[in-house]
Amino acid sequence: MYIKKQISFIEKQIGNEVCLVAVSKTKSESEIMEAYNCGQRVFGENKVQELVSKQNNLPKDINWHMIGHLQRNKVKYIAPFIDLIHAVDNIKLLKEINKQAKKNNRKIDCLIQIKISNEESKFGMEYKEALELISNVNTSGFENINLTGFMGMASNTNNQDILKHEFSLLNNFFKEVKQTNKNLKKISMGMSNDYLLAIQCGSNMIRVGSNIFGSRN
Ligand SMILES: *Cc1c(COP(=O)(O)O)cnc(C)c1O
Repeated sequence: MYIKKQISFIEKQIGNEVCLVAVSKTKSESEIMEAYNCGQRVFGENKVQELVSKQNNLPKDINWHMIGHLQRNKVKYIAPFIDLIHAVDNIKLLKEINKQAKKNNRKIDCLIQIKISNEESKFGMEYKEALELISNVNTSGFENINLTGFMGMASNTNNQDILKHEFSLLNNFFKEVKQTNKNLKKISMGMSNDYLLAIQCGSNMIRVGSNIFGSRN
């Protein structure tokens, strides 16, 4: 019941324009099914092995998102089914995704992860590097990739000013770059502790785990 209550609460808060990615990492298949049974279809995972095994066992109309750092040698395992890869942060990875997508005769949607926080541990590209990657994609035949937007992880802080600053910078970048790149439609930012602020700052895709499923061990 907890999961159902949380999902309907969050859905009322965010409305129809924002996509809710239910982050189910470390959570059991029965917990995922509880969310599924109240209509949730988009789930995010951050480990390839866990993602593959859940995809294998659970209903086929689930849209699986890879939200974590992705190693090149693991792309092949998720390429047959993945709906969106959130955290592309280098061209070699994008080349591999393109290659594996081609093998599976499909196009894979990807977001570029931008480093919006100054924290050492966060992955992602600088704004300038991201622009280079986009122009590369536009000119060098990544036929099996759809670059559809950006993802950012804000600092691990409760300081609203810092969070707002980081989200707003990414949103400004998004708004500017999408004027000349019509495929860019998604901006994935906001997690359990900061999704309302992220939406105020322009997010249209939030990744919420503990607020739906309870805290992780
Ligand atoms: C775990 C994770 C989330 C969800 O975090 P919560 O604080 O539990 O909502 C969102 N995005 C990424 C990239 C994650 O790894």
